Amino acid sequence: MLNEVRVRLQEISDLSGAAAVLNWDQATHMPSGGAASRARQYARVSRIAHERMMRPALGRLLDALVPYGESLPPDSDDARLIAVTRREFERVRKVPPRHVQRANAIGAASYHAWTKARPANDFAAMRPYLEHMIDLSREYASFFGHYSHIADPLIDDVDEGMTYASVRALLADLRSELVPLVRAVCEQPVVDTSCLQGQFAPEAQVEFGLSIACAFGYDLTRGRLDRSPHPFCTKFSRDDVRITTRVRADELTYALFSTLHEAGHAMYEQGVAPALAGTPLGQGASMGVHESQSRLWENVVGRSRDAWEHYFPKLQRVFPDQLGNASLQRFYCAINKVEKTLIRTEADELTYNLHIILRFDLETELLEGRLAVKDLPEAWRARYQRDLAIAPPDDRDGCLQDVHWYGSGVGAAFPSYTIGNVLSAQFYAAALRAHPDIPQDMRAGEFVTLHGWLSDNLYRHGRKFTPAEVVQRATGEPITIKHYVNYLRKKYGELYGLRPAAAFAQ
Ligand code: ZN
Repeated sequence: MLNEVRVRLQEISDLSGAAAVLNWDQATHMPSGGAASRARQYARVSRIAHERMMRPALGRLLDALVPYGESLPPDSDDARLIAVTRREFERVRKVPPRHVQRANAIGAASYHAWTKARPANDFAAMRPYLEHMIDLSREYASFFGHYSHIADPLIDDVDEGMTYASVRALLADLRSELVPLVRAVCEQPVVDTSCLQGQFAPEAQVEFGLSIACAFGYDLTRGRLDRSPHPFCTKFSRDDVRITTRVRADELTYALFSTLHEAGHAMYEQGVAPALAGTPLGQGASMGVHESQSRLWENVVGRSRDAWEHYFPKLQRVFPDQLGNASLQRFYCAINKVEKTLIRTEADELTYNLHIILRFDLETELLEGRLAVKDLPEAWRARYQRDLAIAPPDDRDGCLQDVHWYGSGVGAAFPSYTIGNVLSAQFYAAALRAHPDIPQDMRAGEFVTLHGWLSDNLYRHGRKFTPAEVVQRATGEPITIKHYVNYLRKKYGELYGLRPAAAFAQ
């Protein structure tokens, strides 16, 4: 009977993979004339996958499997497969297809309007859409009945087990650590980033970034790198996990770090145990845990001095005219420059989370109805002024800058990024306890030990364990900001020459 369930799940997984192919092609190679028919094709395949997941026959099979599931060791693959499939089945069934259809249609129209409204700095045009998106998010939450906070079902969808209260507490603790550290860093002299500016041949940039991703462990026999306007990672199957990047000829870091970021996501998906592939267990544990891997490889490793001891001389050889005279230390400082800026996606490691925290506050206030959509631009400016001491001159670089609320929903759009940052340091610290020689390996361009530890403790389990279980099993403790705060204090304290007292000030 479980085999019959597996056959059905493989079918659903293949349909989702096919939808991902359509999406990837649209973002990379499709001629613009194909947009209308592609939207129809994508919606059709996605809907078939959704309908297969809520078929009563699947529910009956799962009912019949209850005694078998209970007879198994609770941590076995089969017991977990039955439990997670049941959870997924119930979740999908609670959401009426007409809501899914309406949400997709409004989301698509809103996204389309946003692509025009942002460059035109026209928040008024987005007001009705955003009001719709908030209503849809509220309606979605209402399908799940009991919750303490209206954002709870939305958060649980992407970061299972977390709630508004737990996310808020985590972010508040982090904020109280970050604010004084950012203040201390920003009082130091401004870092010179001129070595990152110039003209850098796009092909050479892409090739160099990919060579590092492959050294990290990204398997090109089961992946590939293309270009798209917005970098992303997508999975057609466990054995075909693709990434994209965007290149700016006059900016050295963009393609490089977006490649490493997406490769982190891809390695997680490539690393899932073959036995779990094609089932709901064959994917990352949650958005936050997924993001921990993109951040770990992009930031903790990719922006470390250890890794660049190996790669900087190589990069100098690729771009001798631009980097020939720069020192490793200058380059290392430049790629880790801290600056209070308006744009989240361009923010450094340290201020990035402040961008997230204020967005989470605003989106939950919108969802609760405590903040009216018409007051969002002003509230946005006030929060930036308070937390980053800068305010956007317009809405284009203010509350219109991110697509999330205008394309997919309001209430849980942002915290996964910071949960990912927090977990990136927690996983790395655990890997380091198991293998203290990892930094030494990195200085020699070797990442096998770190990749192996992550594969064993995280990747191969896919979604077999809940996010909380994965974190506890891999690191020996629940999610904590401790390791992330230590990592930031040490790295930026050294980089900016802070006296320990300043770096540790409360
Ligand atoms: Zn990411």
